[in-house]
Amino acid sequence: MTKDSLSKPILDRLSTVRRKIIAIKRDFDRENDDIVLLAVSKTRKIDEVLIAYEAGVRTFGENYLQEALAKMAALADTEIEWHFIGPLQSNKCQAVASHFDWVQTVDRLKVAQRLSQYRPNAMGPLNVCIQVNISDEASKSGVAPAAVLDLCQAVSALEGLRLRGLMAIPAANLSEAQSREIFNEMKQLFEMCRSAGYAMDTLSMGMSADYPAAIAEGATCIRIGSDIFGPRE
Ligand SMILES: *Cc1c(COP(=O)(O)O)cnc(C)c1O
Repeated sequence: MTKDSLSKPILDRLSTVRRKIIAIKRDFDRENDDIVLLAVSKTRKIDEVLIAYEAGVRTFGENYLQEALAKMAALADTEIEWHFIGPLQSNKCQAVASHFDWVQTVDRLKVAQRLSQYRPNAMGPLNVCIQVNISDEASKSGVAPAAVLDLCQAVSALEGLRLRGLMAIPAANLSEAQSREIFNEMKQLFEMCRSAGYAMDTLSMGMSADYPAAIAEGATCIRIGSDIFGPRE
C-alpha cells in the first residue's frame, strides 16, 4: 500500500479520537487539563507513523526494542518523543536508556538501576513511570500497589532518571463501571504518591477500549493504538 492510500483511514480515526477526547474532557470537567495522546505504533510501518506525525502527533509508544530502533533511525529527522511501553528485561536496559525519552514500564528496582546506569549524561534524565499491577494479575507485570511508595523512593534517588508518574494496564474486558473503579484506584495511588512528596505529573492509563473511563478518572496520558491505526494483525 502506498502512503496515500494508508493516509485517509488513519487521519479519519485520529480526528475521531481527538473529537472524542474533547467531548469527554468537557463531560468530566477536565477542559483545562493537558492529556497526552500517546500513539501506540507497535507493529505499524514507518509510513503509518509519519502520517500521524504529519497530522500533529508528537508522542509515540513502542513495545518491541528492535522494531523501535529501526523506526527511530528512519525517523531521526522528526521531533518525536519516544515512549517505551513494553515489558522490560535487564538485557534491554542499555539500548532503551540510550534511545528513548520515556520508559513507562519500570516495575522493579533492578531495571531502574540499569536504566540509571546506562542513561547517557548528554541526553538528560530519562523520564520514567512506575508500572502498577492494579488488577493483581499473576500474568501481568507491574509492582503491587502496596509496594509503589518504596519503589518511588528508590527510583527517585537514582541519577539520570526523573520519576514522572504511574502507569497501568488493567485486566481486559472489564465493564465501564469496573474500568472506572480500577482507574479510580490508580488515581488514589497517584495522589498518595504526590502527597508523600513525589512531584509526579503523569498518570498513564486508558487504551482504545477504555480511555473514556480513564479520562473520567484522571488520566493525564492515554495510550491509543488501534483507534488511531486500525486493528492490529
Ligand atoms: C498495545 C498497547 C496499547 C494500545 O492498545 P490499543 O488497544 O491498540 O489502543 C497501550 N498500552 C500498552 C502498554 C500496549 O502494549
